[in-house]
Amino acid sequence: MEDKAKSTPIYSIGTVARMLGVSVETLRMYERKGLVLVHKSDGNQRLYSESDVERLRCVRIAIRDKKISVEGIRRLQSMIPCWDYINCSMDERLVCPAYQSQVAGCWTYKHQTNICALRSCPSCEVYLRSANCDELKALVHKQCVGPASDNS
Ligand code: SF4
Repeated sequence: MEDKAKSTPIYSIGTVARMLGVSVETLRMYERKGLVLVHKSDGNQRLYSESDVERLRCVRIAIRDKKISVEGIRRLQSMIPCWDYINCSMDERLVCPAYQSQVAGCWTYKHQTNICALRSCPSCEVYLRSANCDELKALVHKQCVGPASDNS
């Protein structure tokens, strides 16, 4: 599926709940916790894209199969080295709440004084790549041990 088609919001919250076998309230809780950024239509209806569904599938696998809690998933997402992907300067890192903290994904913070204030998280490479479980693992792995090519 093309990237644009994949990130186009098309599914209602009820449809996604049925696709994933969870309740609507569970999906709202994932949104409140910042595990997913949900698009709102002009009529204030939540709409999910294919990429959002992929992200939520990854969340469900982590919870159900890997026994990772919602807080644990938030911490994993906080370990994605977004600063490397968008090339923040050291000065920007020092005023960035996401760089300073290990609580949740960088897209859950308000960025008012650094480079991310001008960026859109839902269309950011960092956010989109972390939708996929394998990509999330690779992103976090890079943060922990550096690029795989370092060992080759
Ligand atoms: S734009 Fe948003 S998702 Fe991208 S690096 Fe900045 S805070 Fe993270």
